[in-house]
Amino acid sequence: MTEHQQDKAQTEQETTHFGYQTVDKNDKESMVAGVFHSVAQQYDIMNDLMSFGIHRLWKRFTIDASGVRPGNKVLDLAGGTGDLTAKFSQLVGKDGKVILADINSSMLNVGRDKLRDKGLVQNIEYVQANAEFLPFDDNTFDVCTIAFGLRNVTNKDNALKSIFRVLKPGGRLLVLEFSKPEHEFLSKAYDFYSFNVLPQMGELVAKDGESYRYLAESIRMHPDQETLKTMMEDAGFEQTSYHNLTGGIVALHKGYKF
Ligand code: SAM
Repeated sequence: MTEHQQDKAQTEQETTHFGYQTVDKNDKESMVAGVFHSVAQQYDIMNDLMSFGIHRLWKRFTIDASGVRPGNKVLDLAGGTGDLTAKFSQLVGKDGKVILADINSSMLNVGRDKLRDKGLVQNIEYVQANAEFLPFDDNTFDVCTIAFGLRNVTNKDNALKSIFRVLKPGGRLLVLEFSKPEHEFLSKAYDFYSFNVLPQMGELVAKDGESYRYLAESIRMHPDQETLKTMMEDAGFEQTSYHNLTGGIVALHKGYKF
């Protein structure tokens, strides 16, 4: 390896993407934190506006595919304001447990207030945690979901390995995430919407166009369907599969730990 190649390899290891920017790996976490501290209060309303309410269908599909049953222990990782946790709490019942884990205290606070207002208190715990270093014992959970969270994580491979470790044998991971549209036309229309409409909507409603520009950029930088499937396999998951939703704008990946 030449000196230049060594420098390049070193730089590649020490940097990562924050949207389209190349940033030091040590800085990404705090930059992502800035985004979610800023959008937390407006997060739910913006989700409905930006997706025309369709995120509710993507989440419903995820719940149905999870196969969560009464008595299960579920980890809703990067769970934010708790949409999935609310449904899981009803499904696992009084003998089960749902952990809503997120790295960001503002998102967790908004989620906890929302779920308490809905009267969901009994079987939910809130944990502030980084997906890369989960503070749970090995073989703890029947199901782990990470919805629209993985693309924000600095080292996705570490996060997938960490999730694998805390799942029970027979447990499964569901990753709901923006992905690559299947058709060129849809891709172009979606690009126009994401880069022209979204930041303006973010500026108007949440007074924060920059965070919503990051959202659009981070979606484009996220691995496509096949790449994410391979990453899950590399972390140890088996019987991996994915299902495209809304023409591949979003995909639900699933994998098992045996
Ligand atoms: N899952 C929720 C949903 O679908 O509405 C929230 C998704 S929100 C777009 C992304 C969440 O990922 C934020 O709450 C953010 O704080 C969280 N997050 C980002 N990096 C994380 C990390 N390294 N570990 C855990 N959570 C993280």
